This record gives sequence, structure tokens and C-alpha cells, in this order.
Amino acid sequence: MTSPAAAHVRSLLASYPDFPQPGIMFRDLNPVFANAAAFRSIVDELVDGHHGRFDAVAGIEARGFLLAAAVGYAADVAVLAVRKGGKLPGTVLTEEYDLEYGSARLELEVGQLPAGSRVLVLDDVLATGGTVAATSRLIERAGYVLAGVGVVVELTDLAGRSRLGDASVHAVVSI
Ligand code: AMP
Repeated sequence: MTSPAAAHVRSLLASYPDFPQPGIMFRDLNPVFANAAAFRSIVDELVDGHHGRFDAVAGIEARGFLLAAAVGYAADVAVLAVRKGGKLPGTVLTEEYDLEYGSARLELEVGQLPAGSRVLVLDDVLATGGTVAATSRLIERAGYVLAGVGVVVELTDLAGRSRLGDASVHAVVSI
């Protein structure tokens, strides 16, 4: 059965071939987030997907921040920001990883939550899974537990889920 959120995503998602480089089909969620009913339905589904099983959310820069802020508010839990390299002060953990296009570095400040906190990782698109896998390693190195993963769009051809072990992954749509 198609959820209300999935119906919104399927009707509003924009796809741009060869952006930001040849061979990439870029999935643009901005038109989805720009629709209030669509955004609300996505947030509700991401909360329900792991209902009661997380104490915090971690949003991955940058589009994951939009989701994490809203899901954190809706579920009344803490919000963590996983940032691109070099933007966080203090003691940070770092993970380097390969992208569908290029490579990247993600960082998390230590000591934000009690040890053992169950963290739900949120991002807009699950492609190769490298970004979420790196974030999951940061969560675990920081002393937390990966409660699950929530994404709006999963690109099944890239098999990102297979890089996430036995993590519970909720995708609003898989295309
Ligand atoms: P990956 O690490 O390959 O799973 O890539 C996921 C990250 O890169 C997410 O933060 C996405 O925002 C972005 N991304 C990768 N591929 C795409 C794509 N085809 N369309 C839109 N965003 C993408």
C-alpha cells in the first residue's frame, strides 16, 4: 500500500539527469519539502517508522538537518548535527568515505548525549549508503546505539542498504 508520504514524494520529486556530473540522476527533494502537506506527512512517517525506539535523531548535512529538526520536534527527542569536515569545534570524531560522486568527510562532536542513547539517523537520499554508513560509525564511536535509519528516497540500484548491516532502514519511497 502506498503511504500518504510516498504518494506526495512520487508526485513532487524532481529528477535531473547528469547533475552535478555526467551519469548521475540527481533526485531533488526541494519541491517535496516546499509542499507543507508533503513535508508533514514525511515527518510523521519517519517518526512512526521507528516509533518509541529512539531517544535522539542525527541529521546529516545538509538536507538531513531539515528532517532531523522536524522529526526531533515531533518525537520530542534530542537532535544531533552530523557535519561535513572542518565545521565543528571542540573534540570531534571523523569518518572519511566514498560518495556516488567524489569522497567526503563527516564529523560529530562528542559528549552531546548520555552513553547508550538510541539514535535514529536521517537523510534525504540513500544512494550507495556510504554517507549513512559513515554516520552510523560516528554514532557508535561516540558511545551511542544506532536505533535505525530513515530516508525519504532509497535508490535501490545502488544497493545502499547492503552496506548498513542489520540496521533497521525505513525509506518513504524506494525507486
Ligand atoms: P551515498 O553516500 O552514496 O548514499 O549518498 C548519499 C548522500 O549524497 C545524501 O546525503 C544525498 O543527499 C546525496 N546524494 C547521493 N546521490 C544522490 C542522488 N542521485 N540524488 C540526490 N542526492 C544524492
